[in-house]
Amino acid sequence: MKISRRTVLKTTTLTTIIVALLPRVAFAARNSLRTVRTGIQPGNKTRLVIETGERPSYSLSYPANKLVVTLSNTAANASLAPAMAAGTLITAITQVQSGDKLQIIADLAKPIDEIPRDNIMLLNPNGDNDYRLVLDFVAGSGVNNAATTTASATATKTTKKSTPTRKYIVVIDAGHGGKDPGCIGKGGTQEKQVVLSVAKKLKNKLDAAGFQTYLTRSNDTYLKLAHRASIGEKKHADLFLSLHANANPSRAMKGFSIYTLSEKASDEEAAKLADAENAADKIDVSGFEQFDKDIRIALSSLQQHAVAEMSVEYANGAASAFKRAKITQQPGPDVRHAPFAVLRSTVPGALLELGHLSNAAEEKLLKSSAHQDKLVAAIVKSVQAYNFDV
Ligand SMILES: [Zn+2]
Repeated sequence: MKISRRTVLKTTTLTTIIVALLPRVAFAARNSLRTVRTGIQPGNKTRLVIETGERPSYSLSYPANKLVVTLSNTAANASLAPAMAAGTLITAITQVQSGDKLQIIADLAKPIDEIPRDNIMLLNPNGDNDYRLVLDFVAGSGVNNAATTTASATATKTTKKSTPTRKYIVVIDAGHGGKDPGCIGKGGTQEKQVVLSVAKKLKNKLDAAGFQTYLTRSNDTYLKLAHRASIGEKKHADLFLSLHANANPSRAMKGFSIYTLSEKASDEEAAKLADAENAADKIDVSGFEQFDKDIRIALSSLQQHAVAEMSVEYANGAASAFKRAKITQQPGPDVRHAPFAVLRSTVPGALLELGHLSNAAEEKLLKSSAHQDKLVAAIVKSVQAYNFDV
């Protein structure tokens, strides 16, 4: 089953939206409000997403303990069913129609500072989403707005924003390396070599497709698993992909398989695989307290849940992309879960087992540049299809 982030967020409705249409004036609004939703992002950021039928023209203001988004020439949505996530700074959302302006007033548990430009995105429609204004913020000093006590937008600081654009950041982790060869095929092919080659090709293709990418390793070096995960954190990655190749006691076993992090393995085989991949470090996999201390601070169970949902969403898309590319799939579910140390971070991600080096035919394929290109093309498609913003 594909679980969308939105479905998850809807399960925790903390507050209701009040529509105050005073007076209910008739005007020919060019734009209309579709949905409002909130969520938690890595770094304990509150995310407010306002979806509209047309590209919104908006301004932001910051009265005391409120965030007011004023949309010009926009009609309210009287049947709005907001998706309010638990644990955000937003305690209530109200729509106020004033002439042809629609104000969306978010009551905040704590004051915030003016939202920096980098944390505001105006996204074009994609898939089943319309235009989205996405605002990310954390609790702040409220110095901008301490003197303001009313929600009157005219009395408060107003900032007009242009459309920000930023590149999504993907960290590509070639598994193993250095003293740790990973698994080795009968023909002598080493996992660490195959995945480094695929990682480099993938970096080139994703860079060309407009993503900002980083490799955890670009040569034959050994890195601890927690260190790999921390690179995702330090680069503020939107997606973390760990590339591997598999081995199975049955030499007949072939195909790719895709995994996300869970402290409980989805099946025996996934558990064994996580043990094998984690063995590189001989690290304890007993729980999240094993994080690097800089990572540990950023994690709450709620965030971990959100990250897990996003990871599963990516992984499902990746399985589809691999299947569409006619890459052989290992029998079993599309996506499995296990306690992979390398995936323990606040960055959504997946571990991709690209095929079995223990199978003679697949060892040959994994070594071939043409097949590596095919794998890379499928991964690029999966990244392009992933919905980075809610
Ligand atoms: Zn591996």
